[in-house]
Amino acid sequence: MFENLDGLVTAVAVIDPGAGESALVERIAMLEQLKAAAAAGQARAAAALDASRRSAEAAAGVPAARRGRGVAGEVALARRDSPVRGGRHLGLAKALVHEMPHTLAALERGVLSEWRATILVRESACLDVEDRRTLDVELCADTANLDGVGDARLAAAAKAIAYRLDPHAVVDRAARAESERTVTIRPAPDTMTYLTALLPVAQGVAAYAALRREADSCGDGRSRGQVMADALVERITGRSVADATPVAVNLVISDETLLGAGTTPAVIAGYGPIPAAVACRMVGSAVADPRSRATLRRLYASPKTSALVALESRGRLFPRGLADFIGLRDQRCRTPYCDAPIRHRDHAVPDARGGPTSAENGLGLCEQCNYTKESAGWRVAAESGESGRHNAEFTTPTGAHYHSTAPPLPTARPALEVSEIEVAVVIALSDLHAA
Ligand SMILES: [Zn+2]
Repeated sequence: MFENLDGLVTAVAVIDPGAGESALVERIAMLEQLKAAAAAGQARAAAALDASRRSAEAAAGVPAARRGRGVAGEVALARRDSPVRGGRHLGLAKALVHEMPHTLAALERGVLSEWRATILVRESACLDVEDRRTLDVELCADTANLDGVGDARLAAAAKAIAYRLDPHAVVDRAARAESERTVTIRPAPDTMTYLTALLPVAQGVAAYAALRREADSCGDGRSRGQVMADALVERITGRSVADATPVAVNLVISDETLLGAGTTPAVIAGYGPIPAAVACRMVGSAVADPRSRATLRRLYASPKTSALVALESRGRLFPRGLADFIGLRDQRCRTPYCDAPIRHRDHAVPDARGGPTSAENGLGLCEQCNYTKESAGWRVAAESGESGRHNAEFTTPTGAHYHSTAPPLPTARPALEVSEIEVAVVIALSDLHAA
């Protein structure tokens, strides 16, 4: 496609160190235009891939509802992005190519960035094809309209047109949005976390007002923010913050760190790394609390590579122990770039094709990636690699390969010359019962 990709990359990415200031500014503007043009090219390629796959599947007799199922995942892998964003990229591509030609042209010429094109697609998503085409013409046929317009003004202009064209669709969309209410969690700096609730406006405002009322009636020296945060935890978990040891928190920590001699960060399953000192404090408070049941399980890691190679199961419930093991080993969905929490522990090579139920053939995946992996033409092979860390190789229907390696275990640099040492300990700070 590009005869000389390396040459093209060099021409784009390398600048003349002796260039004058105005040449540098022109360069920045020109490269921005190129990024937008590249986004337009990606959109056309993604829409064409989707169309090609769907027609091949139609010819092969695949039912309409099941056609094109893994395409978003392929787009994500090719763009080194998460499957969720792959779905968005594909949705954007199809909307631009099939329904919004003027927006696509503006993207191609660099008048719109990929993000601004996404705003227009998002704001017109509730309209039928005909109305969407009208919006496309009104906003983007004359690109002079787009000069100097910021993200917020662009979204407002699109909303105004959408509401004028089809007020019912906008109202329906608001009603549908309610069904997307949810709670999510993600890491924040300094061993904190953001717990986010997406709520219908009335409920969200009511919840916030209840927390503020709590803060108004409290004068014990805590700040308003602290009182509100404490009240939130107390009402959701049903116990006071003072004795809030987390419920069933799995902490993977190296033995050296646990014994106070190491500084290797520990890992909280479903969260990520936390500093050694914070981990030790969590363990300490869990052990000291008589109502908390801190349990220890040993994991074994290869000293050279920090790979998790076995889990000592406390019970003899093999599947449960194996599922725990895979969850602790993989930590997040193993599809490259996915990062979603693990929902399924699945066979890399399916059971039906003779894949064993083993740690080696097991893979932690999110729900969406597990379904994608089941689509026609997808294959996954897994093995404990030469490095000792678990490897998985994803092959997509076009024959493209993507590699996934399990993260290293938290372990101090090994000093012992033995083939296997016990290096990590899982602490389950679990089952805190009110006394
Ligand atoms: Zn996933």
